Amino acid sequence: MIVAIDGPAGSGKGTVTKIISQRMGLVNLDTGATYRCVALASLRAGLTLNDEEKIVDLIDSLDIELEHQNGEIKVFLNGEDVSKEIRSSEVTSIVSQVSSIVPVRLKMVDLQRKLAKGKNVIMEGRDIGTYVFPNAEVKIYLDADVEERARRRFKENQEKNISCTYESVLDNIKKRDENDKHKEIGSLRVADGAIIVDSTNMTIEEVADKVEKIILEAK
Ligand code: C5P
Repeated sequence: MIVAIDGPAGSGKGTVTKIISQRMGLVNLDTGATYRCVALASLRAGLTLNDEEKIVDLIDSLDIELEHQNGEIKVFLNGEDVSKEIRSSEVTSIVSQVSSIVPVRLKMVDLQRKLAKGKNVIMEGRDIGTYVFPNAEVKIYLDADVEERARRRFKENQEKNISCTYESVLDNIKKRDENDKHKEIGSLRVADGAIIVDSTNMTIEEVADKVEKIILEAK
């Protein structure tokens, strides 16, 4: 079974996906983490967004793995745990553009499909229901007002000691939304057959209950 959870940054996808994977025994796959690894590796290699070809060349030297430990996803890049580093402001500021590079998308989608193979998964991203798994049994589009999403992400960053201001988070989310909606492949949009859940005025538990109900009904 494939449950696709798409939506913009800060809409609650990550938290809800984690809760549901634990409640329902589904493997949690965070597709954004794969793009974040490419962005991190590019920064470490001293590349900028003008070095598209070099970024694409770099991918073949990257081994990206997602491991599940005590309900958390740990992200490994060439064997190194980069779970925290891929959430840094530097990575966040370039990841959307890095993920717009078509060969980068094609390779990451290939990897994401491999990671899901033969498993019951709940997969979160931007294009899971539209492109990665258009035949997913359940498709949910999680949304929320942009200011509310920025508040959530700012709070989460503070808890994780990631330095930022509310304004910088809001600005980054707006830019990413815009870029994510206009990608050549895999742009952020509501998939055919997706159920839209607006979480602006809902608690995370309420959102998780609603998503669980939708999955149970689909089963
Ligand atoms: O979900 P997260 O914020 O970690 O994703 C980081 C970036 O990766 C997004 O802003 C988006 O540009 C890109 N992404 C994507 N397709 C996905 C998941 C993430 O383009 N399926």
